[in-house]
Amino acid sequence: MGKVIGIMSFKGGVGKTTSTINLACALYRYGKSVLVVDGNFLSPNLHLYLGLLKPEKTLKEVIREDIAPENAIYEHASGIHLLPCNFYKDIDFEKFSKVIKSLKGKYDYIVLDSGPSYTEEVIAVLIVSDELVFIATPDYPSVASTVKATKLANYKSVMVRGVIVNRRRKRRFEVKPTEIGKTLGVDVVAEIPEDNNILKSVTQFSPVVWKRPRSKSSRQFISLAKKIISSNLKGL
Ligand code: ADP
Ligand code: MG
Repeated sequence: MGKVIGIMSFKGGVGKTTSTINLACALYRYGKSVLVVDGNFLSPNLHLYLGLLKPEKTLKEVIREDIAPENAIYEHASGIHLLPCNFYKDIDFEKFSKVIKSLKGKYDYIVLDSGPSYTEEVIAVLIVSDELVFIATPDYPSVASTVKATKLANYKSVMVRGVIVNRRRKRRFEVKPTEIGKTLGVDVVAEIPEDNNILKSVTQFSPVVWKRPRSKSSRQFISLAKKIISSNLKGL
């Protein structure tokens, strides 16, 4: 059975989608079959990061029209698979859970992107996840939003892998990763620098881990993937 990793923060623009695709590519580098799913139902854009501009079938049709998920799954040149979404209000959570659970038999890992606010949509992602990875940038508003996400995870008893501190410039005014980990009560599992390669990778539809695996950012995602795989092997 595959594992579902939910990528979460209750704030936009902090790097959830970036982390989703790059963690997926990093897991794939270890020989795992990986599917990324757009769980940002109200403003889905994961497909745009992977060069799929207008997907004909998406998660929305899978749920609403009962089409087989395979018909809405696309393969990216990097090797990862993608289940995109179309703007979808009032999603049927039960069916969403069923679709994700049915795909666990087909992939080693499903990495689930999520929306930017504390809504029912995000709770649906949280509930279907086997583990969560939080994303925060090193500033108080972002950390404060992530605190809310950790509280919700504790309340729902979902396993938390830790937090990725993203867009680090190592400036004195930034909140230090150790402080972020302490405030959230979770491990800091990666520190991703502010990196123009990441911005470039968006226009090139090429996650950095795929195209520049030796870059500093990529090495962080790859080491997180290794950590996840080895702890899963130990049954954690
Ligand atoms: P979210 O999904 O949380 O809204 P995104 O992953 O879409 O955030 O990232 C928002 C923007 O920030 C994107 O343009 C992305 O390329 C950019 N970005 C994310 N992480 C970094 C980084 N480490 N360095 C530079 N740009 C980044
Ligand atoms: Mg996003």
